[in-house]
Amino acid sequence: MEREITINYREIEKAYYLERPKVRQSIEELRGELDSDWVKGRRLEYIGDIIKRLNCHIAGCEENYSDSFKQNVPYWLRKITLDLSGYKESKKELKKLLAEQRAKTSNKEIKGKITEEDIQRAKEYPFENLIEVNRNFGICPYHEDKHPSFFVKNNWGHCFTCNKSVDTIQFVMDMQNLTFIEAVRFLTQ
Ligand SMILES: [Zn+2]
Repeated sequence: MEREITINYREIEKAYYLERPKVRQSIEELRGELDSDWVKGRRLEYIGDIIKRLNCHIAGCEENYSDSFKQNVPYWLRKITLDLSGYKESKKELKKLLAEQRAKTSNKEIKGKITEEDIQRAKEYPFENLIEVNRNFGICPYHEDKHPSFFVKNNWGHCFTCNKSVDTIQFVMDMQNLTFIEAVRFLTQ
């Protein structure tokens, strides 16, 4: 009896995996038939809800952290508590969703107005205006830097600890969560 159930289960599982590509294909076909604005709208609504929830979670974690800071909870305990709360994961997920949200709502017509010259100007925007540096060195924002190891020269940033290398455009994209075009615009306006 038990053996029979096992065999049946295997058969079902096999059928399931054989069917999968077909299902996926029909989803793709359906996607093509549906109004793309409708699909986009559904997705944006969903993303918007999750973003709200993540923001709440992140704010809660930060509040707890600052409370424990006020109560002189030792650093290692604060850090463990923060790690266990899923704070980093939420931040990461939020970043991803914000990027998707931005990509789906950005205006493609404005995008075309960026020129080679704008990009050049954005690259030449003084790096020192974006990060505080003392004798070319600043605190690296890409890792938990305790000693300034982010080196800025010729308008290029490099961290000798985490090996991150960025120009001004990439730096603004990372720090402010912007797309390439948005970063160029930010640096040239
Ligand atoms: Zn670094």
